[in-house]
Amino acid sequence: MKKRSLIWQLFPSYMIVVLVALGAATALGSAALRRFYYDQTAANLTARARLAGLQAAAYLTPLDAGAVDGFCKHAGRLSETRITVMNPSGEVLGDSIGDPVQMDDHSDRPEFIAARQVGTGRAMRYSDTLHQPMMYVAVALGEKQRPTAVIRCALPVSDLDTQLSLIYGRIAAGGLLIALLAAGLSWWVARRLSVPLKTLQAGAQRFAEGDLAHRVPIYGTLELGALAEAMNHMAVQLDEHVQRAIRRRNEMATILSSMGEGVLALDLDERIIQSNLPAAEILGVPQADKLVGRPLAEVIRNSELQRLVARAQEEDQRTEADLTVYQPEARTLFIRCTPLRDQEGRRIGLLLVMSDVTHVRRLENMRRDFAANVSHEIKTPLTAIRGFVETLQHGGVEKPEEVQRFLGIIEKHVRRLGAIIDDLIKLSRIERDAETREIALRNEDVGAVVRGAVNLCQAAATARGIRIVQNDSPQPVTARVSAPLLEQALVNLIDNAVKYSPEETAVEVTIEADDHQVRITVRDQGPGIARQHLPRLFERFYRVDKARSRKMGGTGLGLAIVKHIVQAHGGEVSVDSAPGRGTVFTIRLPRAF
Ligand code: ADP
Repeated sequence: MKKRSLIWQLFPSYMIVVLVALGAATALGSAALRRFYYDQTAANLTARARLAGLQAAAYLTPLDAGAVDGFCKHAGRLSETRITVMNPSGEVLGDSIGDPVQMDDHSDRPEFIAARQVGTGRAMRYSDTLHQPMMYVAVALGEKQRPTAVIRCALPVSDLDTQLSLIYGRIAAGGLLIALLAAGLSWWVARRLSVPLKTLQAGAQRFAEGDLAHRVPIYGTLELGALAEAMNHMAVQLDEHVQRAIRRRNEMATILSSMGEGVLALDLDERIIQSNLPAAEILGVPQADKLVGRPLAEVIRNSELQRLVARAQEEDQRTEADLTVYQPEARTLFIRCTPLRDQEGRRIGLLLVMSDVTHVRRLENMRRDFAANVSHEIKTPLTAIRGFVETLQHGGVEKPEEVQRFLGIIEKHVRRLGAIIDDLIKLSRIERDAETREIALRNEDVGAVVRGAVNLCQAAATARGIRIVQNDSPQPVTARVSAPLLEQALVNLIDNAVKYSPEETAVEVTIEADDHQVRITVRDQGPGIARQHLPRLFERFYRVDKARSRKMGGTGLGLAIVKHIVQAHGGEVSVDSAPGRGTVFTIRLPRAF
């Protein structure tokens, strides 16, 4: 609908009221005027007819038609009135204007008929003779029962219409003036209303734009004042609601962002409607708000997740699963989907809570593998021991030298068990101390520590004709280390080098240092290790050649111990080897001055 301004609403209604009032007053006034004028004219004509009748009576008995006509013409001229005298049967005896002989019978004229019946008669019609509207009044002369004649006087009534159109003209001019006044009044009233209304409208606009601290002025008019007060009250209420909602949203955002888990709320179309920072981090999106509004399937393209979400939607209950995502890198996520409901219990979406459990699952796997490995490692010597003990118990071995051999084998396995347990204890102690930071680090001379380790391995090396060469750095090198632990790590490396090298070869232990780190390398001329084993070499119980390691009395834990010791020092250990080229282990430690 087309909207009109206030002035155009008011002005036409004002004008309608004015015009209707003016029209009604004019119509009523002019009708009354017309009636008054006709009545006055009729009374005037009656008086003239009666006066003329008195005069004419002298020429009626006896009748002198020529005198009657002469009287009519004379009196008519003097009084500017048309005077006609007729005998009782309607025949014209005299007329102020026409020739009575030529005039037709007047017995059918309404005023004549009325005058014959009741003494006077009145009629109004257009005169063909004078070509204008006329009023006729007829009066019977003489006795009522037997009148001698009927005299009729007539006057034009067009004067009245001239007068009336003059009055109408004045009324129209007055109407125009009133219309102008009404326009002015409408403008004034509209302005008085529209100025405060515009201010209220501007105020409402500011409220809509969020400026709820704004207040609209209270106007004097009762209705406008009440409206302004209601609007201000509404703004206060709205402000409180908005503040409360903002507070709640901020609290929610704070809670969500301080959660460790990633949270995604989805609507029924699986579009993200809420998310937190950890969710963005887990999904590799730079900002949490970049997720909002996007379909989940677009953010994570993962069919397992789609199935999980579909199941939660279908079954309308909580579902959870581990799934692997490959973007931005391969990780295991634990995802829990819970249906979201509104206060009436209708489902409005889903809540996804996700945690990155890559590390936890890896540790769990490692623990599981470790437990399985330990059991396996221990079971093998135990089974052997049990077998030999049972054989001895059942007396199956009689020769004393056989008994000795069996006991020797049992002792070897017991020693092996002892070695495994010793190594496990060492490993778990290093792990525990590293975790609780109980390893005491001191500035030590690295050369001295290496010398201690070389000395401990010397006997085994000599037994196999192997030379251990220590290459010290030109300057004394110090590092913050636990001397016994570093010595243990070096013993493990040197011992391996001695163990796996052919006889009569050399093992070199070299110390190098720069401004930042100390490098200790243990190089042998042994068989070397194939490339595919290198990444797993430092894992617990990992062995390249199981049988050979066992034969050498190895536990498979030596390098794992080395790795843990070096890590507890904030350093790292690496291996470089190829079959037939010997093996080099390098320990890197942060330098201390
Ligand atoms: P083990 O007690 O079996 O020696 P380690 O953890 O010390 O256990 O070593 C793991 C495996 O790495 C060994 O079984 C061996 O196969 C290989 N290895 C370690 N050091 C050397 C080396 N210097 N030369 C060749 N192979 C080695």
